[in-house]
Amino acid sequence: MTTWMTDDVVLFRDNVRKVFEREFAPLEERWRRQHLADRSVWRQAGEMGLLCTSIPEAYGGGGGTFAHEAVVAHEQGRAMVNSFSINVHSGIVAHYLLACGSEAQKQRWLPKMATGEIVAAIAMSEPGAGSDLQAVRTSAVREGDEYVIDGAKTFITNGHHADLVCVVAKTDPSRGAKGVSLLMVETAGLPGFRRGRLLEKIGQHGLDTAELFFDGVRVPAAHLLGDEEGQGFRQLMQQLARERLLIAIGAVGMMQRAIDETLGYVAQRQVFGEPLLAMQNTRFKLAECQTEATIAQAFVDACIERQLAGTLDVPTAAMAKWSTTDKLCRIVDECLQLHGGYGYMTEYPIARLYADVRVLRILGGANEVMKELIARSMERQA
Ligand SMILES: Cc1cc2nc3c(=O)[nH]c(=O)nc-3n(C[C@H](O)[C@H](O)[C@H](O)COP(=O)(O)OP(=O)(O)OC[C@H]3O[C@@H](n4cnc5c(N)ncnc54)[C@H](O)[C@@H]3O)c2cc1C
Repeated sequence: MTTWMTDDVVLFRDNVRKVFEREFAPLEERWRRQHLADRSVWRQAGEMGLLCTSIPEAYGGGGGTFAHEAVVAHEQGRAMVNSFSINVHSGIVAHYLLACGSEAQKQRWLPKMATGEIVAAIAMSEPGAGSDLQAVRTSAVREGDEYVIDGAKTFITNGHHADLVCVVAKTDPSRGAKGVSLLMVETAGLPGFRRGRLLEKIGQHGLDTAELFFDGVRVPAAHLLGDEEGQGFRQLMQQLARERLLIAIGAVGMMQRAIDETLGYVAQRQVFGEPLLAMQNTRFKLAECQTEATIAQAFVDACIERQLAGTLDVPTAAMAKWSTTDKLCRIVDECLQLHGGYGYMTEYPIARLYADVRVLRILGGANEVMKELIARSMERQA
């Protein structure tokens, strides 16, 4: 039991676990086949209190803390429900609004995000700019009381369902990072806005990952996030630590699921007249995986404590993100090996996990970028 898991959070976790296991996990297979979760899942998640858990009640949220968000991220990972991204919706976009939005913006969008009436996405990446966000080419030019947005975004999670997109755009291309702003775009019936195809991925088949196109799209100037233009980069940086920690929390949930699946499998699989679990290699591999997962959980717990205390810094969150996602991929690979040929069959959860987890070393900032951030902070201390 960790100190951040108060009695209230334990009760919340038990409830969230039931919801993911009973309500959503059985639907994953269908969502993966249709390459899209049903839209109704968002309303359902809202009704069950899974959205905007740490947004104040005054804005329709759950009124909880980061601990509640951590529980949702962990349980979603553990249940292998990958077909809709609560992290992007509640963990990222809702917190951009809470931290940087005007009162009118918060009142306009947060209550509907909490119920799942609207789905949110964040559009940073472009065909020519992923890790290097200063290279974004999408532009937002002020014309009277509006901004006119032109550009293309790619790899956008929740992109097909999104009603509200937080778009990273250049309001002043001559000013580098200081020319970047965040604009909230309501997509319903918006002239010039178009969604591209749903992208075919090697895993996470039920998650809608899409291209978005903006061709002379007009949004009210009041939809700029922050008091003035050019704050986008600073706003992005402020939220990065919590976003990366949420990825790490989900990764630890998936580690435990991979190990539990494998333990169940090797206990019943007979080889050479005995359970696979009786073989020393199997026992040692599982012991190693469980040790690694326990160490990862302890580090992530310490990061959650720091996030709750407001002291989690960018390099420490980067350590959590790269180390847990790297470790997750290794653990899932070891676990798949113990399944033999069955581990390669997509009807087995371990095969799905194998394909699903690989992207975690890339998104949310590639793991190499995480190491660069850590090295830079070390350099400053040298
Ligand atoms: C399934 C999926 C969902 C995604 N969801 C979203 C989303 O919702 N919103 C959004 O905006 N984006 C999203 N992304 C995009 C994701 O954030 C980018 O893919 C990621 O930031 C890497 O950018 P890139 O793909 O352009 O790779 P590049 O920037 O071209 O980098 C390629 C590789 O180069 C290496 N590299 C890059 N920079 C450095 C460096 N500084 N030092 C050392 N090596 C480096 C890394 O190995 C990296 O993987 C998603 C991507 C995927 C695959």
